[in-house]
Amino acid sequence: MRITDIRELTVPLEGNIANALVNFSEHTVSLVAVFTDVVRQGKPLVGLAFDSIGRFAQGGLLRERFIPRLLAAPPADLLTDDGTAFDAARALKVMMRNEKPGGHGDRAAAVGALELALWDLNAKLRDEPACHTIARHFGRTAADGVHVYAAGGYYYPGEDNVRRLSDELAGYRDQGFSAFKIKIGGASLSQDMERVHAALEMAGGGSNLAVDANGRFDLPTALEYAEQLKPLELRWYEEVGDPLDFELNRLVIEGYGGRVATGENLFSTADVRNLLRFGGMRRGIDVFQMDAGLAYGLTEYTNMLALMEAAGYDRAQAHPHGGHLINLHIATGLGLGGCEAYPGVFQPFGGYPPGCAVGGGLVRPTDAPGFGLEAKQELAPSLRQLLA
Ligand code: MG
Repeated sequence: MRITDIRELTVPLEGNIANALVNFSEHTVSLVAVFTDVVRQGKPLVGLAFDSIGRFAQGGLLRERFIPRLLAAPPADLLTDDGTAFDAARALKVMMRNEKPGGHGDRAAAVGALELALWDLNAKLRDEPACHTIARHFGRTAADGVHVYAAGGYYYPGEDNVRRLSDELAGYRDQGFSAFKIKIGGASLSQDMERVHAALEMAGGGSNLAVDANGRFDLPTALEYAEQLKPLELRWYEEVGDPLDFELNRLVIEGYGGRVATGENLFSTADVRNLLRFGGMRRGIDVFQMDAGLAYGLTEYTNMLALMEAAGYDRAQAHPHGGHLINLHIATGLGLGGCEAYPGVFQPFGGYPPGCAVGGGLVRPTDAPGFGLEAKQELAPSLRQLLA
């Protein structure tokens, strides 16, 4: 068994929405396809994945470094000992040849997309959903669904944001969601609190509403918000300051007291180690949001989880960033605390096909083999272009 071709395609995200720091209208995602010499129903078996949402595509890095390394590797260097599956950890080593440690930027997402495509391939080789392949590989049984919350509440440039926010959350509620997350930090504190109170009315209580500052705040601003948020007993207060300012995270936890969430912009096990050492994250309370697609893939992600568990944290505290099918399979396969859902945003990658809903705020993957990206209608035009 060997890889015969690897393709990548830059796909733009749809929608003009913003959080406290970035507008997503210019954002792109790398969709990748790994072709093999295995033939199923007259066609080569292809592994598909992408590098999650929220950064930019990495076409240059993929074409110049990581795709050539995989294509040049002897087939046995990418396979398990018995040759019946791709070995993602070995492939990761091949891709990272000649790369220095540290500085985990866009390369972590480029490698993540390719590594995840090998998990899609392994699942398709067994003709099963990826959550089962992932669970088996790590000695587990896939969960029967995971808790999701509707992540939205972005800023819409030039519109009445409070009214729009209420309408948006009402729409999610009608779709069956009972927990929500909205953005803060893109307006003044008083405007943001108006938004939070409008959202609370829809959520029916603080435990159903999280807020996300997207790394915007310095310590004084973070604590100013914390003082007003604290009495509301929110679900969590997310990415309050710069994701690599672990001291700030610790001081916010001390000053705020409620649950915080962070980690979506930590792309390596080494960064997570520093968060555990210096960030003040509390066992059994605070939330870790590292995202395999932005962080070298599932091999690195499970190393992060192992580090957390060795330090006394529970995998139920892991809620990956990125409300899409790949993370749904990962959260289900690894028995994580939950994951995001993007019911209204980030097409064509965000959200789940209708067959995934099980009600009560739970979703689970369908029976489609692999990550099931072929079943996501919004992705079909991009897949046609990539596979043509
Ligand atoms: Mg976030």
